[in-house]
Amino acid sequence: MFIADYHLHTNASSDSEAPAEAMIERAISLGLTEIALTDHVDFDDRYTYTDYDEYIPAFIRLQEKYKSKIRLVLGVEIGLENMLKEKVNDFAVSYPFDFIIGSSHSVKKYDLYFDREKFFGLFQNKKDAYTTYFDELIKNINECRTFNIYGHMDFVNRYGTYEDNSLCYGEFSDLVDKAMRLLIEKGKGIEINTSGFRYGLGQTHPSFDFVKRYKELNGELITVGSDAHRPEDIAADFTAAYDMLREAGFKYITLFRYQKPVFARIP
Ligand SMILES: [Zn+2]
Ligand SMILES: [Zn+2]
Repeated sequence: MFIADYHLHTNASSDSEAPAEAMIERAISLGLTEIALTDHVDFDDRYTYTDYDEYIPAFIRLQEKYKSKIRLVLGVEIGLENMLKEKVNDFAVSYPFDFIIGSSHSVKKYDLYFDREKFFGLFQNKKDAYTTYFDELIKNINECRTFNIYGHMDFVNRYGTYEDNSLCYGEFSDLVDKAMRLLIEKGKGIEINTSGFRYGLGQTHPSFDFVKRYKELNGELITVGSDAHRPEDIAADFTAAYDMLREAGFKYITLFRYQKPVFARIP
């Protein structure tokens, strides 16, 4: 039994065609008690994002319609980019979100997917590229105040242009520890994002070593999300995520109400 999927996209995200109702109906059929819709908002010029003045009233209608069956959490996934921090911070406080994922989708204005050749081409080797990724992630935590959870924090390993894109916690432990300590100090958390399995990485984002280290550092806030862009991927590989949480020593997953954490026992 799974509790909640806290990372979902609908056709309000430019990379999904799924109507919100199809996502909600699927979540109900899986027995989830709540879901967070976390559509994309990225401020890089090449992206468009939905008009939240229209999105929110429509979302409230859905909350009302489904309230006896499932709790719908008003979320958003904001692409964090410290060079655009004013836009990020202004946007986040302009709407009554329950839950905000902050994610690194671009680094120094290079989109990790669209500009992968250019971005990774800037560096001599993988270690330098991944170091820059984490340096920028730390700047994002310091400068973009308005998020609750850092999304898929080892995401750089999805789009690397190397023969082996793997990213070991041990190789970047100083930077990862610094990032995690900052998140903890600022009352923010991390997520276990199961999409890595669907991308053939054989792991969650981040991998188990990160989750274990986060627990060792007394991190408490951790959400579980599939990053589904279509109904059939909702709660995908959550058995693996829950097993990983238990193995790392977590007894609870985190849910959010008005951006305040509440805890649900892992079944
Ligand atoms: Zn993302
Ligand atoms: Zn996402």
